Amino acid sequence: MLLAEIISVGTELLFGEIVDSNAAFLARELGTRGVTLHRKTVLGDNLTRLTDAIGTALDRADLVILGGGLGPTDDDLTREAIAATLNETPIEEPAQLAHLRGLFESRGRTMPDINRKQAWLIPSAEALPNPVGTAPGWFVRTTRGTPKLLVALPGPPREMQRMWREQVLPRLPLPAAALEHTTIHTQGIGESTVAELLGDLTRQANPSVATYARATG
Ligand code: ATP
Repeated sequence: MLLAEIISVGTELLFGEIVDSNAAFLARELGTRGVTLHRKTVLGDNLTRLTDAIGTALDRADLVILGGGLGPTDDDLTREAIAATLNETPIEEPAQLAHLRGLFESRGRTMPDINRKQAWLIPSAEALPNPVGTAPGWFVRTTRGTPKLLVALPGPPREMQRMWREQVLPRLPLPAAALEHTTIHTQGIGESTVAELLGDLTRQANPSVATYARATG
């Protein structure tokens, strides 16, 4: 069983200025591929809390997926937090730096110096190309008693989804069995009556059976 946690990073997510649709996308993706998701966390741009959260998630899960905070500015702290958690020092990758400079130059601009940290890499990380943005992702292989994977993805959904599909999925040791789900719609019967009729079925884990009352269009 591959056990995962998702950590979404960004003060605007924490305060509700934007909705965390990336975590919802990733949760659905993991479920359909047989990866068990136990927790989603949302954190502001704070190095201490982020470092703590990564360490705790790595202790509990086999796969930790971080979203956001890969931009060039001082409040983009995902790379710093991963490096601090793993006690590794980022180094600037010349090839990645040249690639970044080329991106800016192809748009007739000079790369600001603050973007240099988007060329950082730590020894345990592999850079994941981002064909639709500047921030490369990180795919980190480490161990804490058992092997652990840590993935850092950019925040913009278009960049995140493409990197997930093209770069992350092929690198994951996905289980052979995946989650299947079926929805049975009922009407004219209350949720608690349905639950009563289901009896013990709603108390077991596999398959997991639940009732939801909601309006359908
Ligand atoms: P960038 O390379 O653009 O700086 P980043 O990795 O630093 O990327 P953020 O700065 O955290 O990403 O977010 C950039 C934008 O992406 C946000 O302003 C928001 O529009 C979108 N975004 C970030 N996180 C999420 C999320 N969890 N769900 C939906 N949209 C998000």
